[in-house]
Amino acid sequence: MAMPESVDTLKAQMHAKIKALGKAGLFMSGTFVRKRRRCGNPACACAKGGEPHVAYTVTSKVASKTKAIYIPVDLAEAVEQWTNEYKRIKKLMKEIDMLAERVIRLHVPRARAAKRRNASLASTTETSSDA
Ligand SMILES: [Zn+2]
Repeated sequence: MAMPESVDTLKAQMHAKIKALGKAGLFMSGTFVRKRRRCGNPACACAKGGEPHVAYTVTSKVASKTKAIYIPVDLAEAVEQWTNEYKRIKKLMKEIDMLAERVIRLHVPRARAAKRRNASLASTTETSSDA
């Protein structure tokens, strides 16, 4: 028979992940998007066959609609890091969730086994006190 998964081990793993969450940096939800676009100014070089401009946005779903926030070029690198940090945190939280689920699933059969153990102990005590 395989060793049963330990609740203590799972809880220790949860603590480790929560500790990693505590070290989080600045973060922002949404998808960082880099795209090329023409500005719409007919006098601009981009309208005359020149290179389109680079634009950065963070898109997210708000009430099932896609919302885009334009990111100034000098903030783009930082904001991209924020969105990466958000992904990391989200992944950690999902992992903590999964560990919590395993702790809960382990609890039910353990609680039943403990009850059975206590019941048999009680009956043993009764029998021995009778003797
Ligand atoms: Zn332009």
